[in-house]
Amino acid sequence: MTPHVSHYIHGSLHRNNNEGRRLPVFNPAHGEVIREVICADDKAIADAVSSAQEGFVKWSGMSPSKRAGVLFAFRELLVRHTDSLADLIGQEHGKTIADAKGEIQRGIDVVEFATGIPHLIKGAFNSNVGGGIDLYSMREPLGVVVGITPFNFPFMIPLWMGVMAVACGNAFINKPSERDPSTPNRIGELWSEAGLPDGVWNVLHGDKEAVDALLVHPEVAAVSFVGSTPVGEHIYRTGTASGKRVQAFCGAKNHMVITPDADLDRAADALIGAGYGSAGERCMAISVAMPIGEETADKLVERLAPRVQQLQIGPWNDSKADMGPLITPEAKTRVERLIESGINEGAELVVDGRGYTLQGYEKGNFMAGSLFDRATTSMEIYKTEIFGPVLTVARAQHFDEAVEAVNNHEYGNGVALFTSRGDLAQAFTNAVDVGMIGINVPIPVPMAFHHFGGSKRSKFGDTQMHGPESVIFFTKMKTVSARWFDSEHMGDTGAQFAMPTNR
Ligand code: NAD
Repeated sequence: MTPHVSHYIHGSLHRNNNEGRRLPVFNPAHGEVIREVICADDKAIADAVSSAQEGFVKWSGMSPSKRAGVLFAFRELLVRHTDSLADLIGQEHGKTIADAKGEIQRGIDVVEFATGIPHLIKGAFNSNVGGGIDLYSMREPLGVVVGITPFNFPFMIPLWMGVMAVACGNAFINKPSERDPSTPNRIGELWSEAGLPDGVWNVLHGDKEAVDALLVHPEVAAVSFVGSTPVGEHIYRTGTASGKRVQAFCGAKNHMVITPDADLDRAADALIGAGYGSAGERCMAISVAMPIGEETADKLVERLAPRVQQLQIGPWNDSKADMGPLITPEAKTRVERLIESGINEGAELVVDGRGYTLQGYEKGNFMAGSLFDRATTSMEIYKTEIFGPVLTVARAQHFDEAVEAVNNHEYGNGVALFTSRGDLAQAFTNAVDVGMIGINVPIPVPMAFHHFGGSKRSKFGDTQMHGPESVIFFTKMKTVSARWFDSEHMGDTGAQFAMPTNR
């Protein structure tokens, strides 16, 4: 019998674990079903929300320092269990163990940042703002908050949003991707082991049906989402229409602009890592290389082509592999269709990664790397997020043309500039409408104490992920004006009808 993945509610696996629709979970390298995930029905959703309400009462009543204590213990457990977590991620996602460990570290970074919650959540105080009144403001948690997460970072993204939500005193319900659901459950178990009260971190599995129920649930105060743009837009509109606070981090098409003076070997190496790492299934993957001038472009493509051909492809547990398979056969077919469209629209396919089979893994969703040259901004391969191991070179003739292309693109998640000129770097940084910019850094994912988030249709909502802004998203402000009457010195008795001032 295929093992099943049940919801993690109130500190244990859900009791009614035989109910609800089931979806297959594949190992993308073998192409075989390894588990079945149970989709939440009305009962599971009701159980998760009421467990979170109960957890919230207990947790939000604990001091920030006590909450920080649980975070320290959780961090130790994550470090101790890194190897088994990386293996679990690889089994269901397909990324290499080294890549999975990178994701784990980036998740742990946020836990470390969140241990500073007593300081981060501090309010502000002014004494005697007028008439013996003290004025202070404080941040309070929202209640039950939901995090809807994508398949491509089954560990890091639930932590990026959920740890900050929980550190602020909320109870968190994670609705992870149905394609790799086991890691989020393991996170729940480790939280319980760290001493988090039951109900503060629940995991509810399922697809659109579960998401849509949570989006309109009256007890859900806020929703943080990471995933594709069409789904993110739906979540933002539906959640805000039902009165919730929503932030949605969405799709991307990240460019790297390469100036003629750049170190082209370094740029090529950076493009290979950022374009093909995790088989291109990263929202911060570089998918467009935009060299400036024909000569730069020729030299760059000359360096890229052999590097793409030499990529090592293998299953998650092959330590020599640079990248693994795609998540599903449908994802692979979609990437192949986009490659076909590039050829039909006249781009030059320099390296064709289609039709690749890995010996011993014939049913896996493997593709080799593909490289396009001479794509134009009107082509589908330029406009669409491919989310696969395909790098597209789109040549620009001038620096301004490259900046214009970056700004005209629908997405604005990340962008990189490879250059040796400080003046161009400064002009680029000021001109581009993109959330995260790398200067000679190909994947500019900010550290946990700064903020993550894109621009344009890569993000809906105002606040960023992690960093101090996440405290703003996951709390509400309360401001208090307090006066204590002193019968000897306070003279102003009687009603005052004019707007009070401190003058
Ligand atoms: P997805 O949008 O298909 O799914 C994300 C989540 O939404 C999952 O939990 C899924 O179950 C749920 N979902 C899917 N369809 C839904 C629907 N119609 N209604 C309601 N919920 C639905 O995304 P994915 O394929 O899991 O992840 C890849 C996408 O995520 C890419 O577009 C990538 O760029 C994006 N992403 C963005 C960031 C970022 O921070 N900007 C980070 C990682 C991934």
